Amino acid sequence: MRAVRMTAPGVLEQVEVPNPTAGPGEVLVRVGAVGACHSDLHILDAPAGLFPTPMTLGHEIAGTVDTLGAGVSGWSAGDRAAVYGIIGCGHCRACLRGNENQCREIPVGGIGLSRDGGLAEYVVVPASRLLRVGDLDLTQAAPLTDAGLTPYHAIQLAREKLRPGTTCVVIGIGGLGHMAVQLLVATTAVRIVAVDTSVAALDLASRLGAHDVVQAGPDSVDRIRTLVGSPPDGADVVLDFVGADPTLTTARQVVASGGQVLLVGLAGGTLPVRPVADEPPTLPLETSVEVPFWGTRAELREVIALARDGVLRADVQTFPLAEAPEAYDLLRRGEIHGRAVIVP
Ligand SMILES: [Zn+2]
Ligand SMILES: [Zn+2]
Repeated sequence: MRAVRMTAPGVLEQVEVPNPTAGPGEVLVRVGAVGACHSDLHILDAPAGLFPTPMTLGHEIAGTVDTLGAGVSGWSAGDRAAVYGIIGCGHCRACLRGNENQCREIPVGGIGLSRDGGLAEYVVVPASRLLRVGDLDLTQAAPLTDAGLTPYHAIQLAREKLRPGTTCVVIGIGGLGHMAVQLLVATTAVRIVAVDTSVAALDLASRLGAHDVVQAGPDSVDRIRTLVGSPPDGADVVLDFVGADPTLTTARQVVASGGQVLLVGLAGGTLPVRPVADEPPTLPLETSVEVPFWGTRAELREVIALARDGVLRADVQTFPLAEAPEAYDLLRRGEIHGRAVIVP
């Protein structure tokens, strides 16, 4: 079969590989769609040895069940499913609580992270990773597993502060950010301020229900403050889906006292934290900062339910498998709007 693999650090190419077979407890899935994630670029850019090579990338997968390995029940050929990408150790305290995204065994295992992923015609996954998607289009189902799940989990962490009448600033309206706006609209009554450098991304945010949009620039902090209030007032929650120094600086300058900053983006920025008595202050009083990672299987089930209810829809740009390397180049250059989805 055809697979798009990282054959060496930094090298992504389509190659011919033998068809995989499902071992005990596993399922062979015919891949219907797989989302292209910024994390894949981090995997490609990582130093040799951190990730296995060669390895088929792709951790945002939906498809149809093909064959079952020994001991698997509850699934039949043709069943449509989304794939939960994390494979926790299964026995640490976090895994036992269902928080495989906090697995204490590092590096955490995953499909397309520690074993072959979905950028191929077929992928083998543990049966426990499959969730039913009903009649959802598979190009819609695939992005739910990360671009939908990751912001949903971040919003869950901030749920206590996302009360009616509060404000949430969403920085970065890309693959995850445009899902975050819809999740906030669907599950809260907060005022949403979307921030991005791209006018097209801001137009998308407005269409999806953001109440205000701010084009990022030298005066973004002032413009956001006119919407959410100036210190010690400000945004109750800031979701940063970029994670670069400028966006983190914006986040800490617009968050309210007692607010919450959730740093999701992987752009490599740093958020300094000092005790409140030190000058100048790095964060308003009582502000909390969290670094969410992906989400849980239970949360993915809820995200799929929202999509099946029609209140969550990924804005997708599809590519055939052979064009996957090109899709990642576009992603790297910031030229993908919404989510790039590869259709093998
Ligand atoms: Zn990802
Ligand atoms: Zn674990």
